[in-house]
Amino acid sequence: MRLILLGPPGAGKGTQAQRLVEKYSIPQLSTGDMLRSAVAAKTAVGLKAKAVMDAGELVSDAIVNAIVSDRIDEPDCTRGFILDGYPRTLAQADAVGEMLADKSIALDAVVELVVDDKALVGRIIKRAEEAMAAGQAPRKDDNAEVFDERLREYYKKTAPLIGYYYAKGLLRGVDGMASIDAVTKEINSVLADI
Ligand code: AMP
Repeated sequence: MRLILLGPPGAGKGTQAQRLVEKYSIPQLSTGDMLRSAVAAKTAVGLKAKAVMDAGELVSDAIVNAIVSDRIDEPDCTRGFILDGYPRTLAQADAVGEMLADKSIALDAVVELVVDDKALVGRIIKRAEEAMAAGQAPRKDDNAEVFDERLREYYKKTAPLIGYYYAKGLLRGVDGMASIDAVTKEINSVLADI
C-alpha cells in the first residue's frame, strides 16, 4: 500500500497515519518528523530548516525531496509507506511522481482529510497543551500565531494538490471532522475499494 495523506495542519494526518502503520505494517514517512529530528540533531539540513519551520513556512522542495527519496530506498519501505505531510507543493508532487516512476513504484491513493478550518486552530492548541501536560515541550509551531501562517501556506501551496490528484484519479476524500475512530473506519473502507 502506497499512500499520501493530504490535509491542512491539525487535520489528523499523523493520528490516522499511525492507525495505517498498524493495519498495513508499513512505515509512516512524515517529513515534519524527519525535519524535526534533523533540527534536534543539528545536521546541515536541520540548521537550514529550523528558522523556516519555526515561522510556519515551508522548507525548500530540494531539501524535502532528497530526504524522502533516501527514506523510500530503505528496506522497510519495500512493502509500502504512508507519506504524511509530503508532497506539499506542486513541485514536490511532480518530484515524487518522477521519483516513484524511477523506482518502478505506483501510488495507490491520495487520502484527503476534509476538515473545517475553524476547528483546526483549537486542535493545534490542544496538542500543545497535551504535550505540556505529558511533561514534553510543545512544538514551536503549535501556537495560534504560527498556525495562521501554516494554514496560509497550506491554501497557497498545498491545496492545489487536491485538483492535481483528482485529475489523476487518485484522490479519495474522507470526512476528517468525525471522531478519530470514525475517520479510521472511513479510510479503511475507502482503501478496501482500490
Ligand atoms: P508537519 O509536522 O507536517 O506539520 O510539518 C512541520 C513543518 O515542517 C512545516 O510547517 C514545514 O515548515 C516543514 N515541512 C514538513 N513537511 C514539509 C514539506 N513536505 N515541504 C516543506 N516543508 C515541510
